[in-house]
Amino acid sequence: MKQGIVYLIGAGPGDPGLITVKGLSCLRRADVVIYDYLANPHFLDAAPPDAERIYVGKRKGVHHLPQEEINALLVEKARQGKSVARLKGGDPYVFGRGGEEALHLHRAGVAFEVIPGVTSSFAAAAYAGIPLTHRDFTTSLALVTGHENPEKKLSSLDWEKLATGVGTLVFYMGMANLPLIAGELMAHGRAAGTPVAVIRWATTPRQETLVATLGTLVEKVRQSGIKPPAIIIVGEVVGLRDELRWFDNRPLFGKRILVTRSAEQAGSFSALLEEQGAEALACPVIEIYPSSDTTELDDAIAALSGIDYLILTSANAVQAFFTRLAACKKDVRALHGVTVAVVGPKTAEALALYGLKPDLVARDFRAEGVLQILNEHGVNGKRILYPRAELARELIPKELAAAGAEVLAPVAYCSRLPADGERIREVLLAGDIDAITFTASSTVDNFVALIGTDASALVGEIPLFSIGPLTSQTMVRHGLTVAAEADPSTLEAMVETMVLHFSQG
Ligand code: SAH
Repeated sequence: MKQGIVYLIGAGPGDPGLITVKGLSCLRRADVVIYDYLANPHFLDAAPPDAERIYVGKRKGVHHLPQEEINALLVEKARQGKSVARLKGGDPYVFGRGGEEALHLHRAGVAFEVIPGVTSSFAAAAYAGIPLTHRDFTTSLALVTGHENPEKKLSSLDWEKLATGVGTLVFYMGMANLPLIAGELMAHGRAAGTPVAVIRWATTPRQETLVATLGTLVEKVRQSGIKPPAIIIVGEVVGLRDELRWFDNRPLFGKRILVTRSAEQAGSFSALLEEQGAEALACPVIEIYPSSDTTELDDAIAALSGIDYLILTSANAVQAFFTRLAACKKDVRALHGVTVAVVGPKTAEALALYGLKPDLVARDFRAEGVLQILNEHGVNGKRILYPRAELARELIPKELAAAGAEVLAPVAYCSRLPADGERIREVLLAGDIDAITFTASSTVDNFVALIGTDASALVGEIPLFSIGPLTSQTMVRHGLTVAAEADPSTLEAMVETMVLHFSQG
């Protein structure tokens, strides 16, 4: 039987980008993933689809599995010959009971490896703009538990040495003991004016930071209502935050933005929003699927050598076309001599994935723009292939035919309402949404279809953003108010529009 092994993996503090390359690679090969409350559940997607996923809790007060049972589970799975990824928040050996788990594995004769993670205090400091050491302010650092073994209380800490012997102090799990921590430090000689930062949900879109002094800490925390999980940093370095903060002052920080485009297309837009600090919430209102009748497109592909222009007006069209090209046992060489026209830079990018450069890119990123550029090149007497969406406007085939071209316009892909369509309603009812984005008319139609006639009531005051004039028209037709429209009609411009909107708001 295959030898089992347990990897104790530090998953980092929350931002999924903060796991190590080695940790991620172990996760990708795992048979079983055992994870905690503080490890970002996003990582579960990295494990193989058939890997077993076991949540063992560890939220304060809501322990799911007692530590002994977690230990026993690790041994049991490894003894079945499994590769076990034991994901732990932050670093496994920093207040994570990783030491206990490793000792238990060692004593049970189970192979294990430990993959360090970015511990939450290091990450919280970096993302709050607080260097934990700086030669002008401090030369030493202590990581301290603010919540010791419940039986021991915090009395075993040597407060006198901590208060005066160490430069920067970092407390984990300290929120419940704040009065004691601040009180003991001051009682043992640390100045009441020493700056303190409390950083909650560090590195995530929910990060909150409160700055106080030892003297004002308890009262300020009480007023703000800031809660665990949080890291407490005590020391002069906290003062550097004013100049060094970079994470929570990005233009869209703290904004939850609903992305309605299809699941396949949401990623690139979400990434642009996240770069500006937003939390992008993917809630697709449209699902793209290939046309079930491919005869017309396949026939056109069989006769590609007689085609003068190929028009592609979306990344979906590109994908649908190349899927059929491959199914017809052909490749890009079949496009030799065909002039390829696309609607805009995103479609050109999709084309690049197949090793192709468009000959023509519309300047106005919609059907009108495609017509304009084709007309400049002359279409009279030409044969044009335009694999299109089932519900596409008739404009392109009609105008090109009127200009004397022969147009083949097979349906290449279709769209429908997604299977979990009710989710959008639930998300809106739950509140907390700062903006909704529409990147095509079809998503507006579907949004309204899913939400029903009270769409504008449910949307309420939430600002709605549109990618361009057609999408805006559809919104207005449904009685929705456009907060701002992108110009040009690109995702980048849309994000800029949103940044501008919120900076003025
Ligand atoms: N092994 C973990 C620590 C686990 S102890 C690590 O290395 O980070 C749990 C404590 O970690 C919490 O009470 C809190 O103080 C801190 N913590 C973990 N993740 C955090 C986060 N994203 N933001 C702020 N504090 C966090």
